[in-house]
Amino acid sequence: MTISLKLRAWIREARSLTVLTGAGISAESGIPTFRGKEGLWKTLRPEELANVEAFLKNPELVWEWYRFRREIVAKAVPNPGHAALAQLEACASDFTLVTQNVDGLHRRAGSRHVIELHGNILDDVCLHCGKKSTEASGGAGPVPRCACGGPLRPGVVWFGEALPAGAFEKAAEASARAELFLSVGTSAVVYPAASLPLVAREAGAYVVEINPERTELSSAVDETLIGKAGEILPALLAERRAAIPTA
Ligand code: NAD
Ligand code: ZN
Repeated sequence: MTISLKLRAWIREARSLTVLTGAGISAESGIPTFRGKEGLWKTLRPEELANVEAFLKNPELVWEWYRFRREIVAKAVPNPGHAALAQLEACASDFTLVTQNVDGLHRRAGSRHVIELHGNILDDVCLHCGKKSTEASGGAGPVPRCACGGPLRPGVVWFGEALPAGAFEKAAEASARAELFLSVGTSAVVYPAASLPLVAREAGAYVVEINPERTELSSAVDETLIGKAGEILPALLAERRAAIPTA
């Protein structure tokens, strides 16, 4: 991977940075992405499980899948890609991290200004009263229940559902404000998150994609860095740090 001269200049000088991450940044922590073969569970595609109709039809099955994923998330640790973003935040005055991930690894790596567009997999929400709790469903039992008696569901945004109030607006503002925008480890097919790089570019940001493969976004960005987030982000961080004057 080579960092172009243009990107070198942007990473050194940008005052305002916004980063969008997707499942790919957590792949190196051992959390499977949704696309590709490893996204399948018992031959089912995520789209068949991560929606409210599937939950109403067969909540036991959907909970089994979420409990399986929670175990993976609980054992995972942040990787050098997460760490580099947390450290990049420390060298920029205006830095926003927007994530589609539900694994909480950015906060665990030390990122502070994080917008979780799709919620957190360790939260539970009552289908009846909407009360949020944290991993109340940890125990056995087919479908965990709220104190009100209603069934609990995982506190994530499912396909076809609205994002948490205000989250997208904040993410869009940060994207429009950015001088440099990084889109990391996302297949850029889940909207509205996938529109953020376009919002940034429209507003004049230099937009860079980081992914081992080209995506639907590739032709719309200024530059695609082909490779792993855990290798490329530390290299970008080193570039930024090299620009900080030492006393
Ligand atoms: P996706 O599964 O659609 O795409 C993952 C992308 O990451 C692919 O383009 C792939 O080429 C790329 N990738 C794989 N390894 C990489 C690496 N080492 N470095 C950089 N990129 C790499 O994921 P998505 O676009 O985030 O959309 C799927 C939805 O699934 C999201 O809404 C998200 O909430 C959810 N999801 C979250 C997690 C998580 O929290 N870790 C995991 C799976 C899915
Ligand atoms: Zn309730």
